[in-house]
Amino acid sequence: MTETDPYSREREEMVEFQIRARGVRDERVLAAMRKVPRHLFVPKDWERAAYEDRPLPIGGGQTISQPYIVAVMTEQLELKPQDRVLEVGTGSGYQAALLAELAGTVISIERLRDLADRAQQNLARAGITTVRIVVGDGTEGYPPEAPYDAIIVTAASPGIPQPLVDQLAEGGRLIAPVGPRECQDLIKLVKREGRVEEIPLGGVCFVPLIGQFGWRGEESP
Ligand code: SAH
Repeated sequence: MTETDPYSREREEMVEFQIRARGVRDERVLAAMRKVPRHLFVPKDWERAAYEDRPLPIGGGQTISQPYIVAVMTEQLELKPQDRVLEVGTGSGYQAALLAELAGTVISIERLRDLADRAQQNLARAGITTVRIVVGDGTEGYPPEAPYDAIIVTAASPGIPQPLVDQLAEGGRLIAPVGPRECQDLIKLVKREGRVEEIPLGGVCFVPLIGQFGWRGEESP
């Protein structure tokens, strides 16, 4: 983020060649991705690969998503500066950092405490102080701060957890990978006059969302 950032050129190239060139045109999203230092959100051993066109391991069997997928999901949230946003699946904290650049209030839920702690540290190193991380089962949403103008689920489940739909504000957008264990469809829901419109956005592969309204345990739904 400073002039001495050794990765600023790689980050610029990531945005131009992986993201803008593939059709993401929202200037606020592109600016946020140019700004947030992705290398601070991957383990030290993977730092040099932080701007490559792929997901990377972040520990606990979890991954930070490919930059292009992060960009598409973020663009589809259609965030406005005053929006309240819920993220399910904090992971590294990178997606949450982008949300903090684009929206007013950001709550992010992570089920693994180790990852939540590390994400908090990553965000602090990146100078982002406005994300609230909660440890818990995000398939239940986070009722104390509901309703949300946008909800982003960054782990995959067999269906969209009903509590999340219930906690979406009128006019709200929800993005989630939905489908089988290995690879899924990215689904966008828009709530209008209490009804939910569903828009498919294409194929993706996410780690499983494990919880009461997601996958149960490691093997079965
Ligand atoms: N958005 C993250 C990547 C998420 S990987 C980033 O920017 O780095 C998916 C994360 O979802 C993992 O950290 C996993 O532990 C978490 N997860 C899985 N099921 C969950 C649940 N029910 N509630 C909250 N987090 C969950």
